[in-house]
Amino acid sequence: MHVLVVNAGSSSLKLCIVEPATGARAAESTVERIPAGGHQAALEGALPALLASGGVKLAAVGHRVVHGGELFTSPTHLDDAVTDAIRGLIPLAPLHVPANLAGVAAARAVLPDVPHVAVFDTAFHATLPNRARRYALPLALAEKHGIRRYGFHGPSHKYVAERAAEHLGAALEELRIITCHLGNGASATAVEYGRSVETSMGMTPLEGLVMGTRSGDVDPGVLLHLVRQEGLDADGLDRILNKESGLAGLSGIGNDMRDIEEAAANGDDRCRAALHAFCHRLRKYIGAYAAVMGGVDAIVFTAGIGENSALVRHRTAQRLEFLGARLDEELNRDCEVTRDAPVVEISPPHARCRILVVKTDEAHAIARDVARMVLDLGAVGAHKPIPIAVSARHVHLTQDAVKALFGPDGKLTPRKWLSQPGQFACEERVTLHGPRGSIERVGIIGPVRRDCQIEVSRTDEYALGLDAPIRRSGQVANSPGITLQGPAGRLTLEEGVVQAWRHIHMQPEDAEHYGVKDGDVVSVAVDSEARDLVFGDVLVRVKSSYLLEMHIDTDEANAADLNAGDAGMLALTRGTVRLLRKDVTHAEV
Ligand code: ADP
Repeated sequence: MHVLVVNAGSSSLKLCIVEPATGARAAESTVERIPAGGHQAALEGALPALLASGGVKLAAVGHRVVHGGELFTSPTHLDDAVTDAIRGLIPLAPLHVPANLAGVAAARAVLPDVPHVAVFDTAFHATLPNRARRYALPLALAEKHGIRRYGFHGPSHKYVAERAAEHLGAALEELRIITCHLGNGASATAVEYGRSVETSMGMTPLEGLVMGTRSGDVDPGVLLHLVRQEGLDADGLDRILNKESGLAGLSGIGNDMRDIEEAAANGDDRCRAALHAFCHRLRKYIGAYAAVMGGVDAIVFTAGIGENSALVRHRTAQRLEFLGARLDEELNRDCEVTRDAPVVEISPPHARCRILVVKTDEAHAIARDVARMVLDLGAVGAHKPIPIAVSARHVHLTQDAVKALFGPDGKLTPRKWLSQPGQFACEERVTLHGPRGSIERVGIIGPVRRDCQIEVSRTDEYALGLDAPIRRSGQVANSPGITLQGPAGRLTLEEGVVQAWRHIHMQPEDAEHYGVKDGDVVSVAVDSEARDLVFGDVLVRVKSSYLLEMHIDTDEANAADLNAGDAGMLALTRGTVRLLRKDVTHAEV
């Protein structure tokens, strides 16, 4: 199968027919200098020849869309509603998004019978934690305008990180990688165990590294100064920061790194300074990202400058020995990456932090995302749905605790048998007394156990005034204690309050069906009316006595708008799920 990758810029249209498994190109074509509104004509002009290339079997069209805002954090099927929603993001990227949408409209008109999927530059960075996302601006203002760090070049950072992991023979989930995408636009990303946790571009692609014509970081006070002293307006600032700065502004001879290197070698001071500023800024980010991740296993250079400039790599890597990162100068000088040999290691053997040059391929990255999505959607029916049970807060008691709470003859009386064999909800109930508040009529699940265990939701913890850890069942060591009140007495426990780690019970045959094993951690997608959700960090528990069922707590169920069927402690819901392996990252779900 093939995927047509459409990359529509304001005055250009890049088309590429890619085999997603290998990245091989069946055909490609670039149309430059497209007049406004001319995308459809350009597409209609170029497409027939591309599709006529031998053996092309078009399964889908993938569109590069620069900004996904808060709305789009994974590849998304393009229909009219999605297209409208993307249009709403124009204020976040006023130059790029309209051009991307022109490409979408043209391609949908010309190829109405294949699925069209948007792949967002920002999506890979949807995993940035809040602390990395936020600018220290007034919160209300930031929220009103969607001002936060989104990050860009997502497909490239993800692609080269995956390639690097492959080369290192390790899972992406085991590595801390700093990816440096150095093209005309440049950005660095901290990829911590497979997730983007910091990236140098921000709300727009203007922040961060020194770029071809973009300034990257500047003191925001400089902008105020320019407005006041030069009388610049928004357009004037835009022009200076986006078009006249960066390598071009520093060197005075344009933005092409090859020219700058040559001039610097011939003694041009401005070009030397431009080169030094470029590498210094990048080294600074590498150091910062190593600190953010608490270490770094690999540094990856990619894109036009990263792949081709031995000098930039050499200068950047200077003084990174403290991270265990050192260049082998010969390997660095001789390094050449091609589509057939896309990864070259340029650090000495056994280096603590490996340095790699990786050829990026954004069209291949997009085609892969699209193919995974199209294939995955086709395969939903093949997976057995997993019933979801919602566990309300409840307690498990020891025999001694039952006596303390319900009297010397006290016992647990089954009210309702639960789906997991041998388990029952009891007639008896208890009150929980925490440091801040109490919760009455809390259910008990029998039979008695070896340890008391109190399973509450995060919301319950606030009410009780506790901070309980997330644990798998039975692991109560070092959890907070609590006081239980029964009709016959009180019992204070030293430990035992936990939030249940969401999990799926399954039999060995189920595990085989899904290709998982006991102890695996997976993601589960839930289709609900209006709050579709993917639960990550779901623990798989396999035993022949288990019934296939996913257990979540009430907070988790509410987040996905799932309802417990009736008043039982565990109840089947209407939710059905699809199982995705943990190694399918967030963006592909
Ligand atoms: P874009 O962001 O436009 O996709 P590229 O990834 O193609 O950009 O990178 C363009 C940059 O790569 C230019 O600054 C160019 O000078 C630089 N570049 C390409 N080849 C070399 C080389 N051999 N040495 C130094 N820089 C190079």
